[in-house]
Amino acid sequence: YIKDLAKLKDEESVTKDGERISTYSNIELNDELYLSNNYRHDGVGLYRTEYIYMEHGNVSEDKQFRILKAAALENGGLPLVVRTFDLGADKLSKYMPHPKEQNPAMGLRAVRYSLKYHEFFNKQLRAILRASAYGDVHVLFPMISGMEEYHKCLDALEKAKAELRAEGVDFDENIKKGVMMELPSLAVISDFIAAEVDFFSVGTNDLIQYTLGIDRNNEFVAYLYRPTHPAVIRTLKKIIESANAAGIECTVCGEIAGEPKYIPMLIGLGYRSLSMSPAGLLKARMIIRALNISDCHKLVDELLDMKIARLAEKHVEKFIEEKC
Ligand code: PEP
Ligand code: MG
Repeated sequence: YIKDLAKLKDEESVTKDGERISTYSNIELNDELYLSNNYRHDGVGLYRTEYIYMEHGNVSEDKQFRILKAAALENGGLPLVVRTFDLGADKLSKYMPHPKEQNPAMGLRAVRYSLKYHEFFNKQLRAILRASAYGDVHVLFPMISGMEEYHKCLDALEKAKAELRAEGVDFDENIKKGVMMELPSLAVISDFIAAEVDFFSVGTNDLIQYTLGIDRNNEFVAYLYRPTHPAVIRTLKKIIESANAAGIECTVCGEIAGEPKYIPMLIGLGYRSLSMSPAGLLKARMIIRALNISDCHKLVDELLDMKIARLAEKHVEKFIEEKC
């Protein structure tokens, strides 16, 4: 089985009926690129930069730039989606000047944190822009809840661009901008935001947490954390429809993108781009190669009629056993 997986290294991520599904990797450190490249990924769909901070503290712009430039170069022209710091909630660092919060998952997290500490955000945006001169770098904003928050991030990006321009520093003027689709509020208005971004990255880990009101790290309620909940499935459908209508890219980068049993459901919903931990790339490719798009559509038609998340879960499990 391991040998069979290894063979997939040189195969395409294409369904039986010839539909290409992009497979990207989620990384936290440059070191992981070795494995991703070895498995011939389509690029980095999610660089979780907060790990740079959690490891080193408040790193200088230059150091961030050097890390991202190295990643861009090692990525050899493939997309490198760099997410701005998603600090706060479950990703705390001893280096952060952070007040204690009653409800950190709903508190000062991700862009809310970055927008509060302007200098800190500016340094990161400058580093990302500078790295964009060395590869196909995209910038991704986490935990956007509505248009205003996105516009504030854009202002911060424009400010960093203007500074670099004035300093004569190279960067990609047309750097692609995207948002994490991980709050139900943004999913509901995904048609609005789709008109203003280049891509969506669907963070199902948080999207499920906030849709179902289930702490993603709380073992006592883990049994309620269900990607097959009808509210989650309908939300995922709405998001891909908004993306397709606007003609923008849309990648799923939450854990379910690399979990075999959920891949047919995502493809059936219309997703053509999945981003996952590098270790999951070959397994996902194996699943993709065993699928027919028409079967995935049929599966989703059935799921959309199912009212009970647990039964829908059984249904995706049965599908994967039969087809793969
Ligand atoms: C997500 O929420 O699905 C996601 C990919 O982001 P993170 O897991 O880093 O919060
Ligand atoms: Mg998230």
